[in-house]
Amino acid sequence: MPVPSVLCLSGLDPTGGAGLQADIEACFANGVHAFGLVTALTVQDTTNVMMVDAVPRRLLQQQLDRLLADCSPTAVKIGLIGAQDQVSMLAELLGFLKVPVVCDPVLRAGGGRNLLTSATTQEFLVSLIPKITVLTPNAAEVHRLAPGSNDDVTAASALLQRGCQHVLVTRGDETSDDVVNTWYQTSGAELSWRWKRMPGKFHGAGCTLAAAIAARLAHGETVRSAIQVAQQYTQATLQTPLSLGNGRPIPQRRVMDAP
Ligand code: PLP
Repeated sequence: MPVPSVLCLSGLDPTGGAGLQADIEACFANGVHAFGLVTALTVQDTTNVMMVDAVPRRLLQQQLDRLLADCSPTAVKIGLIGAQDQVSMLAELLGFLKVPVVCDPVLRAGGGRNLLTSATTQEFLVSLIPKITVLTPNAAEVHRLAPGSNDDVTAASALLQRGCQHVLVTRGDETSDDVVNTWYQTSGAELSWRWKRMPGKFHGAGCTLAAAIAARLAHGETVRSAIQVAQQYTQATLQTPLSLGNGRPIPQRRVMDAP
């Protein structure tokens, strides 16, 4: 049996709050190894992203080929996609890697900067969504991915119709008293969790949640259990966040009471 492990494909955030470092820390805290591939280098601080520079596709392809000829990840996590030409490479990868795939659609930084062009988003919707097990958009992202939908249910259904198996719409980016996250499935069933909102806004909470879901799936947990436990874990990381700079604090992922 392969060792439970997650192949993480994400951007590199030098603050360590979001992106690949968030993935690696969340995987580690949830008891699995992370393989790390950088899709893009970024210039950013805890307030916003200033620049994104994609890693060339041919380099990423070589890294993947070498790694996968040798190692067998048991789940995949996709975060920031660096450039449009990475989408078809990722779709090809997910065509032959028969493991659960969690994708956090990183469309815009919390500070406001757009991180995915509309052409890349379009290709993502057509080629990648059908290969995703769990998609974790926040409320703003689910509506950007399914424009014209009046509510979350319609937007999530539109994404399920495009072929992903589960959509978890998170509401951490809003301002309601509680954070209510809702899981939508192709069967039409839905389930919501209500969490006490931690004061303030965070940098990297979405990456933390998605990577923790991938880690739980890498262990062989059901999607329902993975989503439930990963939310508990993420909630714990936000209880004593780290204020590193002048912007948003980041989750403290090394929580000792992690489930
Ligand atoms: N930078 C990278 C590399 C990311 O992956 C993300 C989000 O996933 C961000 C920045 C933005 O994170 P946030 O919206 O939490 O500030």
